[in-house]
Amino acid sequence: MDAGQGSGSMDAMHSAKEEVKRAADIVEVVGRYVQLRKAGQNYVGLCPFHSEKAPSFTVSPSKQMFHCFGCKKGGDVFAFWMEYHNASFPEALRELAQKFGVNIPEKPLSPAQRHRAEEREEIFRVNERAMSYFARLLNEDRRGLAALRYVEERGISREIIEEFRLGFAPDRWDGLVEFLKREGLSLDTAAKAGLVAPRKSGGYYDRFRGRLIFPIFDLGGRVLGFGGRVLDDGMPKYLNTPETPVFQKGRCLYGLHAAYRAIRGEGSAVVVEGYMDFLALRNHGLAHVVATLGTALTADHIRKLRGYAPIVVLVFDADEAGDAAVLKSLPLFLNEGVSAKAVQLPKGEDPDSFVNQWGLERFRELVEGALPLFDFYLERACSEKEMDLDAKARVLKQVAPILS
Ligand SMILES: [Zn+2]
Repeated sequence: MDAGQGSGSMDAMHSAKEEVKRAADIVEVVGRYVQLRKAGQNYVGLCPFHSEKAPSFTVSPSKQMFHCFGCKKGGDVFAFWMEYHNASFPEALRELAQKFGVNIPEKPLSPAQRHRAEEREEIFRVNERAMSYFARLLNEDRRGLAALRYVEERGISREIIEEFRLGFAPDRWDGLVEFLKREGLSLDTAAKAGLVAPRKSGGYYDRFRGRLIFPIFDLGGRVLGFGGRVLDDGMPKYLNTPETPVFQKGRCLYGLHAAYRAIRGEGSAVVVEGYMDFLALRNHGLAHVVATLGTALTADHIRKLRGYAPIVVLVFDADEAGDAAVLKSLPLFLNEGVSAKAVQLPKGEDPDSFVNQWGLERFRELVEGALPLFDFYLERACSEKEMDLDAKARVLKQVAPILS
């Protein structure tokens, strides 16, 4: 490479970086993900990168820098973007430039950077195509009729089916494999995306078979992965995309892309466990709701949510597993300084069945009357009538480690 050309493109990159920096105000960018309040010259909030109850995360509009006094992370708007989105610098530059309408020259990347960026792009592309394939099968193919009927019988409207791009994976081993081949897409990439898995004898087979499909989106509307639910009593009931370069289950909340504005508006987030719970509530008009992907709530989930609202209301299934999930989340909320409440549904109900039977107003009343998490747990644990001393001791034993 000619030295003049090299420094010319470096200059162009440098000026693009400066231009993005001027356009992308750090308070605005960080403020999309962290609840900030003005404190003197600066803004402060709870750090999205470590556990804390009192804000030690500051953003300086004059310096256009952030700094956390707790975990010592800090830097400019690019550093924030890279840390928050687990992105490389070129990705941060490109994504911020796109958002703020800055043109950037073709970027000189190292081979490793280019490989990583291309791999992620390819995974997003194959996910997007797979989503269309699943959606067409649900909406326009007789093989998807049973799945469509299942969704419609649960009262989910056409608008919701389309908004959340629900789909159907037929019960065969090579449906998606054949589709991707016809589209000329790489099956190796599809394997990296977790859509297909290698056969021992060579070749690939579909991972999702005979399932209703829920695409999982990032905040920008890109498809990170999928959840799949069986329509009968098959096991496992739910199947998610495995960990991939773009998808980590413990960091994703289903529906957040469609809910974060409403969560900020309401000042609280309703969290449910299942895709169908989420869709049923959306269908009835509740907008500030997200779902965990059938997994336990993580500290990362809570940090994401507290960037939008200070209160989280858990509405888990009214059974032992649901109660256990609420109890497990208690120390996480305490660590993150988020005020958490839980709703007591009538025994045996889940949010889906409840809202369909009783309507949104009754559901909202339950949310209004949600108990602080700790009270919820004590009430549950002590509700067995006439607890004897042994039973009370058992409850204390369970609760004590959480409070220490
Ligand atoms: Zn921190």
